[in-house]
Amino acid sequence: MGVQKTLVDDFGRQVTYVRISVTDRCDFRCVYCMSEDMQFLPKSEVLSLEEMVVLARNLVASGVTKIRLTGGEPLVRPGIVDLVKSMATLPGLEELCMTTNGGRLQDLAEPLRKAGLNRLNISLDSLDTERFRELTRTGRLGQVLSGIEAARAAGFEHTKLNAVILRGRNDDEVLSLVEFARAKGLDLSFIEEMPLGIITEHNRAEAFIPSAEIRSLIAERYKLEAVGDATGGPSRYYRAPGHDNRIGFISPHSHNFCGDCNRVRVTTEGRLLLCLGNEHSMDLRRVLREGDAGSEAVDARVQAALREAMALKPEKHHFDLDEEPQILRFMSATGG
Ligand code: SAM
Ligand code: SF4
Repeated sequence: MGVQKTLVDDFGRQVTYVRISVTDRCDFRCVYCMSEDMQFLPKSEVLSLEEMVVLARNLVASGVTKIRLTGGEPLVRPGIVDLVKSMATLPGLEELCMTTNGGRLQDLAEPLRKAGLNRLNISLDSLDTERFRELTRTGRLGQVLSGIEAARAAGFEHTKLNAVILRGRNDDEVLSLVEFARAKGLDLSFIEEMPLGIITEHNRAEAFIPSAEIRSLIAERYKLEAVGDATGGPSRYYRAPGHDNRIGFISPHSHNFCGDCNRVRVTTEGRLLLCLGNEHSMDLRRVLREGDAGSEAVDARVQAALREAMALKPEKHHFDLDEEPQILRFMSATGG
């Protein structure tokens, strides 16, 4: 019998999409993502760029067609453009994407595009300089806006903005963000805050705004029409009549999208995480470091570990903002 070339879990879901956290570090400290004083992993615990390429090659050989590089902030990882270049040419990989805070795109958008990166998601929670600073603690809005322009100029297709809306902090900017995205011809997704990691800056339950509420804020100005979701992801997309761009909602609380989940994540230290909201995982770093990286023996072991891990993928996540956080890892270490 030939070796199975697809990753299918016990619920019949095929994993074709992997998000790899290339660093847990970041130049921002967004209030919903990180605490002010973060402890970052020592270098020895973080996968090297070579290990990430070996991992990506074996993921693709196992049927993965889309990889997203994320973090932490992927653009603070030295060698990120070379990493993109090495992954972009993997035969069988259809899409190589990145999620970034945009702060360094002004310099890196064009090199990344030339290196073969297909798509970008850029986070943007506020268009007000002061507020942007408050929400990111260290970010500069002007830099991110220049980064967005650089991404447009570099010719990336379907660039998407991501916004986390917190009650009383930036909920009055929903329509401005919609207008901004429209003017720039970019898709925009609103993400519900998830209880990942312990933060003290705000009470997550109090700040929580369900997607339905954001949708009705937008509906005050635009009649939103649902559009089919070609990505198979957790975003539900809408379009305002006459607008070219789409508005999406990622609603892990109010819409459980686990039934068609096609994705897994790899943490910065090489832990294959089968679900964002659960701790089920497989240590791939150990497997990668058990022999010569790049040898056929290591490739075979990594692919066997990936297939074995599929049995660990839980059926669904359970998030409850009124309980103590069940998931102690931060989004930045997870590969958000
Ligand atoms: N640094 C990059 C960025 O900010 O786009 C990539 C990593 S970041 C963890 C990926 C996405 O996760 C961002 O859009 C961010 O807004 C979102 N995010 C972070 N913490 C979150 C949380 N607790 N709940 C929901 N979304 C979160
Ligand atoms: Fe950094 Fe992204 Fe987390 Fe903000 S959301 S702290 S930019 S990793």
